[in-house]
Amino acid sequence: MSHIEIAAKWCKSCEICVSVCPKDCIVQSDTLNQYGVYPMTMREDAECIGCAACAMMCPDTAIEVYRTVKNKS
Ligand code: SF4
Ligand code: SF4
Repeated sequence: MSHIEIAAKWCKSCEICVSVCPKDCIVQSDTLNQYGVYPMTMREDAECIGCAACAMMCPDTAIEVYRTVKNKS
């Protein structure tokens, strides 16, 4: 399963990533960052497909995508 990592210190909680994720993987965390907002995080049971839509749309480049690639052999 692919997954993402969100840098809480860069997230301004604009929720653009939430709106573009086709699998509803991204939710708000319950811990404030230094901007005084609750940054996004990946839902525990998320089924991320590694599409990278969230990372491409994040205005603060706060998201890294780790894709799981199937072995063809
Ligand atoms: S990579 Fe795609 S599926 Fe995974 S969290 Fe981002 S938008 Fe959602
Ligand atoms: S798009 Fe980026 S800055 Fe906006 S909520 Fe998502 S991770 Fe945070």
